[in-house]
Amino acid sequence: MPITRDELLALDAADPLAPMRARFTLPDGVIYLDGNSLGALPRATAARVAEVVTRQWGQGLIRSWNDADWIDMPNRVGDKIARIIGAAPASVMVADSTSVNLFKLLSAALKLRPGRMTILSEAGNFPTDLYIAEGLRDLLEQGHRLETATHDEIMARIGDDTAVVMLTHVNYHTGRMFDMAAITRAAHAKGALMLWDLAHSAGAVPVDLAARDVDFAVGCGYKYLNGGPGAPAFLYVAPRLQQSACFPITGWLGHAAPFAFEPGYRPASGIQRAQVGTPPVISLSALDVGVDLALEADMAAIRHKSVQQTTIFAELVAQQCVGHGLRLVSPTEAAQRGSQVCLAHPNAYAIMQALIARGVIGDFRAPDVLRFGITPMYLRYVELWEAAVILREVMESEVWRDAKFMNRQKVT
Ligand SMILES: *Cc1c(COP(=O)(O)O)cnc(C)c1O
Repeated sequence: MPITRDELLALDAADPLAPMRARFTLPDGVIYLDGNSLGALPRATAARVAEVVTRQWGQGLIRSWNDADWIDMPNRVGDKIARIIGAAPASVMVADSTSVNLFKLLSAALKLRPGRMTILSEAGNFPTDLYIAEGLRDLLEQGHRLETATHDEIMARIGDDTAVVMLTHVNYHTGRMFDMAAITRAAHAKGALMLWDLAHSAGAVPVDLAARDVDFAVGCGYKYLNGGPGAPAFLYVAPRLQQSACFPITGWLGHAAPFAFEPGYRPASGIQRAQVGTPPVISLSALDVGVDLALEADMAAIRHKSVQQTTIFAELVAQQCVGHGLRLVSPTEAAQRGSQVCLAHPNAYAIMQALIARGVIGDFRAPDVLRFGITPMYLRYVELWEAAVILREVMESEVWRDAKFMNRQKVT
């Protein structure tokens, strides 16, 4: 039975997450399917940032490090993120970017497994994850190897020489999701450490780091956590590893006594040693607002709606766009899919530009993928209908052939 627009309106009317949409500012005439690249702006963010800037900074000046407790914001917001990803208090810290945190944690993992020379990752992992591993390998000059394997091969490739398995839980290019429990168990069975990148998971799919006994994790603040462009990232270190982990960037805020201004480095105890320098207070305050919203919306409700919405959108595309050469590259089985629907087409870039010109905002991932992110906190069911209709119109009319849609911009 084909899906009807009325059915989607009925789903919206019964949706327990529907009220969350009003907590975000979304422009008219836009169907936003790119919350996995840059989350939407929460309504409360502008006032919160203004308060931090005008009162805490403008009036409080340096006193606000203590009076407004700026200094502990990375831990405070980290503890909130911990609740979203199933981590214990004091095991998550907001700091730096995802790339930098990968460097810090990967380095700590290799130090904890001396003699093991392999970093194992997925061949189709997000490039920065692989680039960071290459850079660290080259810096160390100890003969480490970065090995990559396909999604299905990973498990069998974990061996006695594997120091750390570094994987992105939900693949950015396909939306395919790893079995976190099974792979973490397999890594541990071989004596390897497990590092998960939660860039496309935190705030989108339920994750339980403590229950899965994960060693290390990193994730993004500006995607499903709605922290704003360039929001600081987060990192997780299992409590049982916090006293033995050595991080390679030994900055003063990871020191046991930063304000003692001692001549030599002594690591702080606990997660604090993962911090490097002064936290970005203004960005952190924006992230705090996004994280509060994610905490308010029950993760099980988000996952339920996300599964429904990705399933419905894939079906709508199949119904509406038959014969236009769009190939679903996301898993058909919802249990293996994160919160995105990816379609391959040789002209994906121009097609996405034509969609954006009509208000349907997704993104393009080279070489040939149209990527549609599903963010249940602010996406209505009926918008999936509108988006599929506009996609059909773009395909039927072939407007994407217009030269103006071929011009590659710097950010895709
Ligand atoms: C978005 C994303 C990143 C981003 O890293 P930055 O350092 O914030 O630029 C890293 N890894 C994955 C898997 C991502 O999806």
